[in-house]
Amino acid sequence: MEIDRPEPGTRAAPEAAPHRAYRYVGPPDVRDAARGAPPGTPVTSAAELSAWLGRQPDAAGPFTYTVGTDGVLRLADRRSEHVACAGGGPVLGAGEVGFAAVDGGGHRAVEVSNLSTGYCPDTACWPAVAAALERAGAGHPGGLTQAVVFRRCTGCGEVSVVREGFFVCVFCESDLPARWNVAPPVA
Ligand SMILES: [Zn+2]
Repeated sequence: MEIDRPEPGTRAAPEAAPHRAYRYVGPPDVRDAARGAPPGTPVTSAAELSAWLGRQPDAAGPFTYTVGTDGVLRLADRRSEHVACAGGGPVLGAGEVGFAAVDGGGHRAVEVSNLSTGYCPDTACWPAVAAALERAGAGHPGGLTQAVVFRRCTGCGEVSVVREGFFVCVFCESDLPARWNVAPPVA
């Protein structure tokens, strides 16, 4: 998938904007263990979302979610690995999502993060996540409620999380890059 995103702060129509795809970057043994696990449930309508949430012990969540390169939201139990939820493939977004019922029917995503150490997606994944939620008939908060800033340290190669705007590797104290760089683009 080609990367041609607008600069941060600008807005493009979600339908028109190509979304970056993220490959799995987590531990190989986690991916291997996920091979036999069922993928997340695809949800492409409000009816499917309500049905899926109705089968969960706690419909509020949070749940594991991924957005496939097909743009489809997939939901799984929170204990599920993102790589299992995604069926092993690349994603346009991944994280955790919590829902609330809406008066008059339907659901709204009230908490949405990009917290996935398997995919470490950029916070710029939001438009793809929003589009998938909209396709699933769910309202959303208009942005990530928990935005995790992942960067790969060019000093030691480890993936670090930037905390409180402090772009320094927690492993070796090298400066971290300003732009997302965790993995090469998905071809
Ligand atoms: Zn480092």
